[in-house]
Amino acid sequence: MDRYEKLREWMVETQIIERGIKDKAVIAAMKKVPRHLFLPEELIDDAYDDRALPIGYGQTISQPYIVALMTELLELKGDEKVLEIGTGSGYQAAILAELVKEVYTIERVEALAQKAKKIFEKLGYSNIKVYMKDGTEGIPEEAPFDRVIITAATPKLPDPLISQLKEGGIIVAPVGERYSQYLLKAIKKQGELQEHYLIPVAFVPLIGKYGFDS
Ligand code: SAM
Repeated sequence: MDRYEKLREWMVETQIIERGIKDKAVIAAMKKVPRHLFLPEELIDDAYDDRALPIGYGQTISQPYIVALMTELLELKGDEKVLEIGTGSGYQAAILAELVKEVYTIERVEALAQKAKKIFEKLGYSNIKVYMKDGTEGIPEEAPFDRVIITAATPKLPDPLISQLKEGGIIVAPVGERYSQYLLKAIKKQGELQEHYLIPVAFVPLIGKYGFDS
């Protein structure tokens, strides 16, 4: 076991399992994916800390616990087609790629999208497709999706993303103000969303047609 594997074991025990994450597949994915490779060189040694970290361009990689929690809330079985808005470092997409059939991830900052693509190639994640566009509009030509995860703060769930979610599908997102939100899990039943607001969170803003202005 190398140094980073040990750090990952420790991260999963102290930050993920102790806080109540139970989904075995999510726990296994968090133990497997090398989070340090998704960080800028100078922050590699902080990769397994219990916090979000900067990834450049004013953006962040989320705290490991929040990644695990949002993933568990998606209730993944293994055969899903998942849409992620906010590729950022690519770490959340890689966790999803361990657990589902296909991941479609959208990023508006080109440099981040390109960097994430390279890491996916290096790590052999052939089931992740990266799109460079305004993620609030989703990917109509690839819809419907079994699950949608938004990893940036949105004032409300963007209408196109609700439309592109399958019946019975789940959407997880931080919804609220620009600097403080609640994590929302919504399930689509007979065309309507059943909404459950969970814990307070603080994400960077989702900027786009159906998000914040700038
Ligand atoms: N999931 C990421 C990870 O694992 O590193 C963390 C995402 S970071 C908290 C939020 C990301 O959303 C940023 O990279 C930001 O550029 C992106 N973003 C903001 N608005 C967006 C939009 N309309 N479409 C796509 N990406 C957007």
